[in-house]
Amino acid sequence: MTTCKTGAEHIKSLKDGRTVYIDGKLVTDVTEHPAFRNAVKSAAMLYDFQARPENAELMTFVPDGSNRRVSRAWQMPRNYAEMVQRRKALQAWAALSYGFMGRSPDHLASALVGQRMGIEVFEKHGADRAKALRNYFEEASRNDYFLTYVIINPQSERAKDWGEQKEELVARVVDEDSAGITIRGAKMLGTSSIMANEVLVANLQPLKPDEEDLAFSCALPMNVKGLRVLSRKSYEASAVSVFDNPISSRFDENDALMYFDDVKVPWERVFVYRDTDMCRAQFHDTPGHAYQNYQAQIRLSVKIKFLTGLAHRLTEAIGTTNIPSVREQLGYLAAQSSMVNAMMAGMEAEGSMRGEYWVPNRHFMYSAQVLTQDLYPRVINTLRELSGGALIMLPSSLHDFADPQLRKIIGVTQRAANMSPDEKVKFLKAAWDAVGSEFGSRHTQYEMFYAGARFVTSGHSYRTFDWSGATGMIDSLMGSYDLADELDRTKH
Ligand SMILES: Cc1cc2nc3c(=O)[nH]c(=O)nc-3n(C[C@H](O)[C@H](O)[C@H](O)COP(=O)(O)OP(=O)(O)OC[C@H]3O[C@@H](n4cnc5c(N)ncnc54)[C@H](O)[C@@H]3O)c2cc1C
Repeated sequence: MTTCKTGAEHIKSLKDGRTVYIDGKLVTDVTEHPAFRNAVKSAAMLYDFQARPENAELMTFVPDGSNRRVSRAWQMPRNYAEMVQRRKALQAWAALSYGFMGRSPDHLASALVGQRMGIEVFEKHGADRAKALRNYFEEASRNDYFLTYVIINPQSERAKDWGEQKEELVARVVDEDSAGITIRGAKMLGTSSIMANEVLVANLQPLKPDEEDLAFSCALPMNVKGLRVLSRKSYEASAVSVFDNPISSRFDENDALMYFDDVKVPWERVFVYRDTDMCRAQFHDTPGHAYQNYQAQIRLSVKIKFLTGLAHRLTEAIGTTNIPSVREQLGYLAAQSSMVNAMMAGMEAEGSMRGEYWVPNRHFMYSAQVLTQDLYPRVINTLRELSGGALIMLPSSLHDFADPQLRKIIGVTQRAANMSPDEKVKFLKAAWDAVGSEFGSRHTQYEMFYAGARFVTSGHSYRTFDWSGATGMIDSLMGSYDLADELDRTKH
């Protein structure tokens, strides 16, 4: 049995000549660049964690017919117990970044696990496309690839259909031959793409029947010729130090626009071709969408618990913990934290078999998604409310501590009942990084939108709710009396 993928192996795999731009310049090596290097190290940390012998059983499994352990994220649970076992591995990974790495490798592994479970949906689309997905799943899982995806079109003129947008905006098929297809145009917003091995390109937003050029799905290596990755601003690059920005300096997973400049895709990697309904079915008729967003809720359960702990410590730092109204706010936060956990456990326990596999309860998952995209900004707001000026009345950077005169003033002004001034500043800097920094603000945007705007997630909730059960109760009540009988019964 060979050992599983390590951090060093992952870092080496990213030195592949990919075309990433930031601040007007081409990045020659993402693993060394100050905008990305620490995030890359954090990704590597995930693989090193699972490669530790004592974590082998928790984090990894051996796929059938293979001789190498890979992340449990690639496991296709055959029952409830296996789903819980798989989840524990995903939680352990999420805990390493306190839930701040939204697109750790288990997100896409989960999407592909779900799509592979629904292979018959691809079979209906075409034997060759199903074969491509089956083979790609084997390749990606056996090699423990870190994948990202771009499944959303660049936000442009929202009042127009996707097919009506300006040429070259939305990625589309512009050519095909016996070797494969050629795509041109853009997709947003490849989170983690700078540190992923491969990208799944697909179309999750509804398409009209005449928009076949946009209706494709494929997988590409991040260094494929013609793929240009335009990074957003790096928060890691502007993090002053780990002391000043302990979260953003290490877990800024990045987001990037992807532009496909006549990228050629071999047929063996094309999963959906010119079929607008299949673009939807790839996610929704398979358990793909359910599995990828179930992973997101597992990760979020860790992050909300972290933020709840942060709130408690905040009140300790400013000495408000025992004020009854503050306790009430903490209790409310604790309830919200456990609600996220309970919804996750509910998705698993109320799951069902699909063929030979156990899948999470779809409606419970969508209901969690709708509720948590609202919950996150409210939790952040509670943290702000609990803190007052504490998150702002802070030394400009760790360098203030190097000046004896300033250090003395810091010692006098940053007092707390059970923290030293150094500890208090250290903690409050971390709290600001999580809650109010540019990085923290991006996280609020992420949690509100990563799975679609509210009208989209509520639509999924509407589609998957047990309306006949709910309205059936109304019908039962209505059937239990009628006007004529009641008139008779109440006649004087
Ligand atoms: C930090 C971050 C990371 C992301 N990472 C990824 C990634 O890795 N891969 C990926 O594929 N995507 C990613 N995304 C994109 C994400 O999936 C989209 O932002 C999301 O689906 C919403 O689409 P949109 O941005 O076009 O917003 P829109 O759909 O345009 O919604 C924006 C707002 O416009 C209004 N609106 C627009 N249309 C309607 C309508 N028809 N009815 C009612 N109201 C409407 C609503 O007020 C809505 O809240 C990421 C986004 C963020 C913010």
